[in-house]
Amino acid sequence: MLVVGLTGGIGSGKSSVASRLVDRGAVLVDADALVREVQAPGGPAFTPIVERFGRGVVAPDGTLDRQAIADVVFGNTEELAALNAIVHPLVAAGMAERLGELAETDEIVILDIPLLVESSRQSAAQYVIVVDTPEDVAVARLVEHRGFTEADARARMKNQASRRARLDRASFVVDNSGTPADLDAEVARCWAWLQTL
Ligand code: ATP
Repeated sequence: MLVVGLTGGIGSGKSSVASRLVDRGAVLVDADALVREVQAPGGPAFTPIVERFGRGVVAPDGTLDRQAIADVVFGNTEELAALNAIVHPLVAAGMAERLGELAETDEIVILDIPLLVESSRQSAAQYVIVVDTPEDVAVARLVEHRGFTEADARARMKNQASRRARLDRASFVVDNSGTPADLDAEVARCWAWLQTL
């Protein structure tokens, strides 16, 4: 098993790169998917979150209201730390379990970890792929395809590591400043690099 982290700023194209790598044969372990799993009703983070943040974070359908939680923790370090203290260990355990299942295989495992650079915690990744996209391009895509306002996209970016800090951690940089076809070519280059490891 080869374990490679995949990270990048919000809207940089992490999911687009991950799905292209999966098409080529990689196995994806997705931190956001694990977060959703542990926070789902019946998941191990659900009750601790409701106990800490109150019934106001439960949506009418009984699931956690992610926007309500985001509104509480955004820009509030204490509340964010409380949420992370509940969620992070459970996500780490889920990742460790998945990696344990894959340990004896010769799969190329991609760990999609949006906050890999921001997090001080040790990751299992032996190498790091950074998806690099100019901020203005990422903002335009988030506004066009994902319904963000420009102000919201920029505020979230400001809360993340800088492009420079991320690039400093990169073993390989995927440039996603161009068209989807350009990204295909970048991912082909990345896949060829992975074969050399
Ligand atoms: P998030 O940080 O929200 O998880 P992400 O980094 O996973 O986002 P994607 O969801 O892959 O980013 O891409 C953001 C949006 O930009 C998506 O709607 C995607 O389809 C679009 N997109 C990604 N790459 C390109 C590209 N090269 N050209 C045009 N649109 C793109």
